[in-house]
Order: sequence, then C-alpha cells, then structure tokens
Amino acid sequence: MDGCLFCKIARGEIPAQVVLKTETVTAFRDINPQAPVHVLVIPNQHVGSAAEMGPGNGALLAALIVAANQVAAQEGVADSGYRLVFNVGEDGGMTVSHLHLHVLGGRRMTWPPG
Ligand code: AMP
Ligand code: ZN
Repeated sequence: MDGCLFCKIARGEIPAQVVLKTETVTAFRDINPQAPVHVLVIPNQHVGSAAEMGPGNGALLAALIVAANQVAAQEGVADSGYRLVFNVGEDGGMTVSHLHLHVLGGRRMTWPPG
C-alpha cells in the first residue's frame, strides 16, 4: 500500500518514535497521546482493519498482543494495568486504515469509553 501512512512508518519512510520492532510488527508512540503511555502496534504488512482478520490471521493477532504486552512491560505499566483497543470503522473511531492496536496506560481508564 504505497500511500498508506502506517505502511510508510513500518518501512521507516516517515519518522516515528519506534519503541519495538520485530519481523512482523512495529510499535511506535501515538502522535496525539490520550494517556501517559499511548503506543500503537501495527503489522508491518498492510491489513486494513480488524474487520479483515479471519481464522488464518491467528499468528498475526498473537504477535500484536505479545508485542503490546512487551511494550506495557517496557513502559512500566504491566503491573498497574493497561487497555488494548482496536477501533474499527467510522463508528468505532478508526481514522487510519491500517490495522493498529492501541496500548494505553499510566492512568486509570474509564468505562464506558467515549
Ligand atoms: P484510530 O483513531 O484508532 O484510527 O487511531 C489512529 C491513531 O493514529 C490516532 O490515535 C492518531 O493520533 C495516530 N496517528 C496518526 N498519525 C500518526 C503518526 N504520523 N504517528 C503516530 N501516530 C499517528
Ligand atoms: Zn498500510
């Protein structure tokens, strides 16, 4: 996906504060953080959203969550807790059409979300 912002970040073509990188995923700080810790974990290969994930994507989903857990540990919120969020589609609040897992922590989250 040539024009995709997060594909460019995964390829290192656009600067980002990368906190973790593996063969499969990249994690970087959100440019507009909603909590003291706000990191996005993305697949390096383009996937449009969680709505495109099927039974064959189990390994990718696991890689995203394993990376998110590692980010939480690195950022010092593994014990205090954190929130993992996939926004999907317009009503879900998705603004960038490349699958991303939000890792939010460092403050007490509220429920229901806004
Ligand atoms: P969502 O609303 O779930 O699609 O989340 C997209 C997130 O990407 C938002 O929280 C934005 O602040 C974040 N974002 C957009 N552009 C960038 C960028 N260039 N670097 C880091 N985060 C970004
Ligand atoms: Zn992409």
